[in-house]
Amino acid sequence: MEKLSSPKRTKEIVNKYGFRFSKSLGQNFLIDENIIYKIINGAEITKDDTIIEVGPGIGTLTQYLAEEAKRVLAIEIDKSLIPILGETLKDYGNTEVINTDVLKVDLKELVETKLDGERVKVVANLPYYVTTPIIMKFLEEEVPVKDIVVMVQKEVADRLKAKPNTKDYGSLSVAVQYYCEPEIVTRVPKTVFIPNPNVESTVIRLKVLDNPPVEVTDRKVFHSVVRASFAKRRKTLLNSLSFGNLGIDKEQIKECLMACSIDPKRRGESLTIEEFAALSNTISKIL
Ligand code: SAM
Repeated sequence: MEKLSSPKRTKEIVNKYGFRFSKSLGQNFLIDENIIYKIINGAEITKDDTIIEVGPGIGTLTQYLAEEAKRVLAIEIDKSLIPILGETLKDYGNTEVINTDVLKVDLKELVETKLDGERVKVVANLPYYVTTPIIMKFLEEEVPVKDIVVMVQKEVADRLKAKPNTKDYGSLSVAVQYYCEPEIVTRVPKTVFIPNPNVESTVIRLKVLDNPPVEVTDRKVFHSVVRASFAKRRKTLLNSLSFGNLGIDKEQIKECLMACSIDPKRRGESLTIEEFAALSNTISKIL
């Protein structure tokens, strides 16, 4: 039988079940085996790997994951896809599908109860309307993850891997680079999906670091400082931070900046992650 990754087979399955694509759930299904292999190779999947896939759709990528990995846990929000997945994944005994919203589930507990607490790889063609919350949930909730290899909107990938003093560098870049080392796997055209999305895509690998690249005494303060620094991109750091509800006044912010040898007239986008860490640690001390 033709593989699910062929456009013909995808259309057959979709028609057989009378499935209707939901734009609001970000449903763009992959129909290109080359791209699927780029994802699989980018994640360096072996028979030792346990995979969490977010949004299996009709199970196209899932079948390839199931063949390469030890086991796969797929989390799908759309109830109408569950019977389809029952058919397309019936021959893969190492695969389980859960019908739930990935943003509402306790991922740490899920790994504990369903995957014996093993360190997982997250591999997915993500729904673009919730890309950032999904990635940040895996990172911030201390889920045991070693790698995240995901298809995202091109602009989001550019932001995830951006360095200081570039237009794409922002709070998302710093937040993600606190946990991971990002690397672009491949750019992806619109034509490899049914239906075609309106945007270009990119597969990105976020290799989760064993330890953060900087020491931060209070992660909450660190994230607040980073967010405030980028909130008003045209303003100086001193002004941006003064509007940031950090719980200290402008004069104190200036003193903290000076204590870290950071010129208050600089802009947030010029600060390295090391400077953000030094600044937030100094601010933490006086809070
Ligand atoms: N993996 C399939 C593929 O590559 O062909 C489908 C990918 S499609 C871009 C995104 C999938 O995520 C859809 O199946 C959609 O229903 C599912 N989805 C959307 N929001 C979700 C959520 N909050 N939790 C779990 N799955 C979600």
